[in-house]
Amino acid sequence: NVRVRFAPSPSGDLHVGNIRTALYDWAYARHTGGTFVFRIEDTDQSRVTPEYIAAAVESMRWLGLSWDEGPEVGGPHAPYQQSQRLEIYREWAQRFLDSGHAYYCYESPEEAEARVARQKAANSPIGYDGHSRDLAPEQRAAYEAEGRKPVIRFRMPAGTTTFTDLIRGEVTFENSTVPDFVLVRADGSPLYTLAVAVDDVLMKITHVVRGEDLLSSTPRQIAVYRAMGVADEDIPTFAHLPFVMGNDNSKLSKRHGAVTIGQFRADGYLPEAMCNYLALLGWSMGDDREEFSLEELAQAFTLDRVNTSPARFDPKKLDSINAAWIRRLDSAELANRVAPFLAEAGVIADPATPAELETLAAAVPLIQERLVTLGQAVDMLRYLFVADVTIDPDAAASMRGPESEAVLKAGIDALEGLSAFAAADIESALRAALIEGLGLKPKVAFGALRVALTGRKVSPPLFESMELLGRDATLARLRAGLA
Ligand code: GLU
Repeated sequence: NVRVRFAPSPSGDLHVGNIRTALYDWAYARHTGGTFVFRIEDTDQSRVTPEYIAAAVESMRWLGLSWDEGPEVGGPHAPYQQSQRLEIYREWAQRFLDSGHAYYCYESPEEAEARVARQKAANSPIGYDGHSRDLAPEQRAAYEAEGRKPVIRFRMPAGTTTFTDLIRGEVTFENSTVPDFVLVRADGSPLYTLAVAVDDVLMKITHVVRGEDLLSSTPRQIAVYRAMGVADEDIPTFAHLPFVMGNDNSKLSKRHGAVTIGQFRADGYLPEAMCNYLALLGWSMGDDREEFSLEELAQAFTLDRVNTSPARFDPKKLDSINAAWIRRLDSAELANRVAPFLAEAGVIADPATPAELETLAAAVPLIQERLVTLGQAVDMLRYLFVADVTIDPDAAASMRGPESEAVLKAGIDALEGLSAFAAADIESALRAALIEGLGLKPKVAFGALRVALTGRKVSPPLFESMELLGRDATLARLRAGLA
């Protein structure tokens, strides 16, 4: 039975790279009918805060990546938050000391660093040199007498570490390039390398699917598994995912625009689109399909189609996928999705009233084709919910002058005489009065009406907008435009 874990250390809002990993972990578990474990790695509590953890859990829920074991749902290996498992790591550290897999190291970080620097100068930069590996009892006693508090270091065995990565094939590390590493800090707190390995074993993880940045910690992890007595055939299988780069091939960062899931959500990207696009960062369906749901992803996902080369994050591609997902929504659903954005902007009530939702559902078909993000709906639809329109500064020019006055007057006359106030009737009445009657170009005539009605040069289709607003509001706005 496959057991895959997503094990973030959220020291901020989850970003594109984390989510891509989570998505592949989830899809691999779902595809294989296995178990998806969500574990919070917060042994470094100076960086990983309760707020970030809560945000990570919320983001996973928003994306629809449901987990079988982990925060909020529990499971047979609970707790799934490392800060609540400190006793377990302490016990294992003690066992490693007892079995000789680990040792107390009394040097101050400065002393250890100084020796690393000397090694570097001598051109053998392997990090900690194992100076404290085999301290004589009297040396230990002398250090203790000085009041030094030791860290616990893992004794990296000699030889090589080889494993078969499901994406990269066989990978071999010379253990001599892997310095003895700290398992427990001088204050007794465990480090990531200890906690991650202990939990993988205790939680019976079979597959570690994670970012390539962690490839170099794999030999350390394998050494700890072995020290725990795990037989080679029971060591989890690794799959290291390619990096996600920016469009300019540098590491993806804030410079490239939004990179955190919270930011994309706030901008109005759909969770369906985020999952869809992020899945394409390093993987493909194998056919031409570029738009697919989470269910379709789970059905099709195998690791052999993950690329080894870095993936490039392309905001334009994300936009086009988001727009495609927006177009798939029916009016009621799209209204529900844009409502929180209008509420957040103070345009409608929070939560939206049933009447507001009804207006939105009638209005969204007018803008659906043009929406790239949900957030854009705010400016496009604001005019439907305000008592008086505010004219955009860059639209004001088309409202001045005798021509626009004539347009507004003739428009008011034409609309006042209409018996039915539906878009088609509005259109023919206005065309007759303005284009044929006054001999104006449609752009000029309808431009002035549009600005008076919506305050903007660009708006949803004019005649439909008038129908939506209704006769009274439409006439009131045109008259206000005259004033
Ligand atoms: N907690 C680690 C991190 O977020 C990842 C652990 C793992 O996937 O092995 O960097």
